[in-house]
Amino acid sequence: MLTKRLPPLQSLLLLVSRPHSHHARQQFDVIVVGGGHAGTEAAAAAARMGAETLLVTQKIHTVGALSCNPSLGGVGKGQLVKEVDALDGLCGRAGDWAGIHFSILNRRKGPAVWGPRAQLDRQRYREFIQSELLSTPRLTVMEGSVEELLVTEPNPEKPGCHRVTGICLGSNQPISASSVVLTTGTFLSGSLFVGQTTSPGGRIGDAPSSAGLSYTLRERLGLRIGRLRTGTPPRIVKDSVDLSLVKLHLPDSHPSPFSFLNTHTRCKPEEQLPCYLTFTTPGVERVVRESLHVNCHIQQDTKGPRYCPSIESRVLRFPGRSHQVWLEPEGMTSDLFYPQGLSMTMPPDMQLRLIREIPAMHRAEIHTPGYGVQYDFVCPTQLSPALQVKNTQGLFLAGQINGTTGYEEAAAQGLWAGVNAARCALSLPTMALSRTESYIGVLIDDLVSRGVTEPYRMFTSRAEFRTSLRPDNADLRLTLKGFEEVGCVSSVRYQEAVRVKNTLQDALLALQALTLSAPNWKKTLPDICMSKVKSTILTGMDVLQYNDMSFEMLASAFPECLSSYKEFSLRLKIEAVYKPHCDLNKKEIERIQKEENMSLPQDIDYLSIPVSLSQEVREILDRVRPSTLGAATRLEGITPAAIVSLFNYVQFTK
Ligand code: FAD
Repeated sequence: MLTKRLPPLQSLLLLVSRPHSHHARQQFDVIVVGGGHAGTEAAAAAARMGAETLLVTQKIHTVGALSCNPSLGGVGKGQLVKEVDALDGLCGRAGDWAGIHFSILNRRKGPAVWGPRAQLDRQRYREFIQSELLSTPRLTVMEGSVEELLVTEPNPEKPGCHRVTGICLGSNQPISASSVVLTTGTFLSGSLFVGQTTSPGGRIGDAPSSAGLSYTLRERLGLRIGRLRTGTPPRIVKDSVDLSLVKLHLPDSHPSPFSFLNTHTRCKPEEQLPCYLTFTTPGVERVVRESLHVNCHIQQDTKGPRYCPSIESRVLRFPGRSHQVWLEPEGMTSDLFYPQGLSMTMPPDMQLRLIREIPAMHRAEIHTPGYGVQYDFVCPTQLSPALQVKNTQGLFLAGQINGTTGYEEAAAQGLWAGVNAARCALSLPTMALSRTESYIGVLIDDLVSRGVTEPYRMFTSRAEFRTSLRPDNADLRLTLKGFEEVGCVSSVRYQEAVRVKNTLQDALLALQALTLSAPNWKKTLPDICMSKVKSTILTGMDVLQYNDMSFEMLASAFPECLSSYKEFSLRLKIEAVYKPHCDLNKKEIERIQKEENMSLPQDIDYLSIPVSLSQEVREILDRVRPSTLGAATRLEGITPAAIVSLFNYVQFTK
């Protein structure tokens, strides 16, 4: 599937932009504004749904650009990539194509919370996305800057409710559409910061989104707009780093692909590159402190990403500590390292001083300095679960414009906004994904029901049903629905998902039907440790739950009934391990939901109660002091696990 050769980037760009020159159509079903991670998924999904779609973006050659870290996936984020892939999106296959260092994060924990991740070759990722868009039927890609949204005046029958009718380009050229998806990323009223210098921009080298667009959102549609910030590290010349002073970090020996259609990754072990780990020194902290007075970005109150903080924020929050710095390759043939953990906005000369305080980088050279960006976002509580603006029919928002951070969060929203924009244009009812079936549902529900006060990042702890929402089963959860109910999945992918589902079902029945007494199991598989056996008769499914038991071992002992399912050994093992967890988890959540109205005493000392709560959760509870458990559940940053701890504490101390 992914072994095809892509044409060189230059010829691709010409091909992608060709519809522009022939472009006569002034009416589309769906227009997507912005060719970042949200916009590309939205445009491809809308076209897959059967809508005539136009993607308008400032620069075609930046379509699919990775603005910051060249990596995809991670804890919680990997689950989103798998789900986007299960709904036939682009980013999983692009990640497999461009991956140069695959690893599963969180492997010491259970497979439900493993985080599939890959370091990427920037250029290959962009090439793949551009090539896919080019070959998507019903999709036109056009270079241009959208200056304004075309919206009707409020409908007298529905006060305060507008309808989007299209967009207007810089040349005052209007283009009509039934639905518009806005995915302006970090570009809406964007400003760039380095040291004391501020300039308008959405990303280095790119102009911000026009003031007209912000005006329409704020003044004409009356939307509440907030401001957030983020930053990126300087890029370091590879040859200038002393690799004898860093710790080598090899990729997994068997790379796990993101895409369910990719049964093997393109990357052979020899086609992968290592990453390196090093640490900050007290000298780094000294330079941060000495440069604070010339660092505008850090002096602002605007909220930045809590889980991807700048080195300035890390040093100020945790003084005296040594912080990790990962040196990650920017591509297979790139001469640069991306130093993850060293995002910074001080003046370039201070940036050089800072990195040279790290022993492995004492002679390092900076290729491009780090910088910060501040941008407008639309408070996402003004959206429906279909990502449609509540007071404007046909207008959908996705990605960083909704207050999230990260490519995966953007891609997931983009896909779902594209699906619904197409459904709206094709006069079909819009759809929502629930928290119980997907991380995409969790993400969107968190955004539209709780809103954001700082850039939102996905974590497994945000999903109550995480033992069932696993990376391994995203196809079973979403591909079938995506084809049968939503309409965004191709029949090729659907047929494969049906085959997988039927085979797994047969295998589970075979395991369930395999019943032996405990002594007979012991006789058949002498190495098996059965110290915890409670029942005398055990099924193959029960036995597969043991740590030291693999499906391969069972299949060797009972080849006649199990060997035909070896292709799914790992998935079957995971199913067996999680079956009891899933059942318990569901009951626990149901119990908590019943206790929504439980009162929380107003004198609880959240900062010191002896329960398992993170510092972040303690601070939020202490600040807000919710009156009921239900109110605590709806606070941004309060995880389902924290609610369980709080519930148990209040019950216990009653
Ligand atoms: P983007 O990828 O930003 O894409 C927006 C697209 O819209 C661009 O192609 C732009 O040209 C186009 N566009 C905007 N306005 C218009 C218009 N009016 N007309 C036509 N086209 C338009 N994420 C992290 O997770 N961690 C980080 O540490 C991090 N640091 C970052 C640092 C910097 C400096 C930047 C710029 C981004 C950083 N990000 C980080 C964010 C990451 O890039 C985004 O989360 C992700 O790219 C969002 O995807 P998106 O599709 O919403 O927007």
